[in-house]
Amino acid sequence: MSSKALVCVVCSTMTVFAAERMSIAVCNLGDVPERTVAGAESVVEAIFSPLRIDVAWNGCEESGSGLNIILRLRRDRPAGSERADSLDVMGMAFTAAGVAGNRADAYFGAIEGFVRRHQADPAEVLGYVVAHELGHLLLGPGHSAGSIMSASWNDKTLEAARQRWLTFNQSQRAAIHRELQVRASLAVTR
Ligand SMILES: [Zn+2]
Repeated sequence: MSSKALVCVVCSTMTVFAAERMSIAVCNLGDVPERTVAGAESVVEAIFSPLRIDVAWNGCEESGSGLNIILRLRRDRPAGSERADSLDVMGMAFTAAGVAGNRADAYFGAIEGFVRRHQADPAEVLGYVVAHELGHLLLGPGHSAGSIMSASWNDKTLEAARQRWLTFNQSQRAAIHRELQVRASLAVTR
């Protein structure tokens, strides 16, 4: 084994975290087909699974263990959002006065438009949009090309998503764990 490989092994063992959990209450206001919602949920679980973060799905208004998040699936999207392939046209994460939030929207009308233009799978795109917005709730508003936090999608990113290469990068993963730990400690002391 080369010394470089050895260093990487040491790094990866240092960044192993205890399993954490997010409980997501899904409010399907836009009558998104259940099959699509279930498919999207599987995509989100697969994205967070390598981070050892369990994702539990609840009905609207229900809560669970870990970090509770409210996800609304809507048909409409905010006015003035014209960049058709921007992920933030297809979804939005809500934060208040710089404080990390726990509420996100996915705009299924915009997702259907993207799916038609790119001949994509709606469940897959919805899943990546939800993962991207969860990323904003945990990481803040920034974007980063070549990861799930990429600002916009083209055929290349779509292909990476299809092949399951589109993930959170290493620094995003570490920041997500830090944020989950901070939120958990806030919940305990509250
Ligand atoms: Zn974004």
